[in-house]
Amino acid sequence: MSYFEVTSDIIRVVGDESIEDEINACYILFDNEIAIIDSGTPKTPRKDILDCIEEYGRKAEDVAYILTSHEHYDHFGAHAWLKKKTKAKIVAHQKAVETLQNPKKLITDHYMLGKGDKFMLSFYGSPTDRLQACTVDQIVEEGDTISFGSTDLEVIWTGGHSAGHVFYYEPRSKAIFIGDEALMYPGDSYKYYIDFTGDATRRLKALKGLMNINWKILCPIHDEAYMQTDGREMLRMAIDGHNQWNQTIVDVLNEHGKEMSTGKLARETEERMGISWGSQMSRLIDHSTTYMHLLSLKKAGKVEGRGAYDKARWKLSAEALLEEFDSEFAI
Ligand SMILES: [Zn+2]
Repeated sequence: MSYFEVTSDIIRVVGDESIEDEINACYILFDNEIAIIDSGTPKTPRKDILDCIEEYGRKAEDVAYILTSHEHYDHFGAHAWLKKKTKAKIVAHQKAVETLQNPKKLITDHYMLGKGDKFMLSFYGSPTDRLQACTVDQIVEEGDTISFGSTDLEVIWTGGHSAGHVFYYEPRSKAIFIGDEALMYPGDSYKYYIDFTGDATRRLKALKGLMNINWKILCPIHDEAYMQTDGREMLRMAIDGHNQWNQTIVDVLNEHGKEMSTGKLARETEERMGISWGSQMSRLIDHSTTYMHLLSLKKAGKVEGRGAYDKARWKLSAEALLEEFDSEFAI
């Protein structure tokens, strides 16, 4: 087991590396009661969470809350198991509730898998296979506070990476738990990932919003906690990466000069961005990030698209074409 003290009351428990070398982790917050933020996959860190609590001389019964940053399998994977061991309340944003209660929604709503993908996953095994449904005991929304002992956690709804994504802000130590909205795991393409329930505009808003929140410690799940200067640098890189994805889509469309399908556009954008999802995960990730960027570009009037997701055809709007023309010929 490995765990790291972020502060004397905040511990990050890191599980064994699992699929595609992804690092799965969670945070334990100690007060006279305990809260756990995220629970990793069904496999890891799982038991290490309770072992860590024991090593700190505390008991499973002290856990009052199991909080959810968002509704992905590597964040609520051990919720059901932990609840049985601790009797704690499971907390999630209203938009995450259905997926926690029915994890099959990951396949249908979040990853929108087609028949071929489902077949491949049934062959190789899906990371969602051992996922247990759990009942959410407390639904939170933007502005709510979760309190235990003398600790308060303020809920900030972000809804970028996935619809039910939230940040938890702890004002005493000024730590903010940011789930998967931003991370800078070296070479990891997931730092850009938005699923089919997410929203690229909201993700950018969340990242920019973080620049204005008075935090001292930035706590992502798959990456170690950052102190102020490094955290701000990481956020700047995340914002740049997000904008770069948007601009790459515009560049590809501009150079192509005619309508493109979502799949072709996504493949070309990902290639230029140097994205590699890994062989197994690419089945789950598919083209959702590009698609969600396209929807936000459409809202901003930069692209026009007809049809839904894989049937959609995209082109630059007249306004965006003019902008591209101007920037190419600007002196
Ligand atoms: Zn996620």
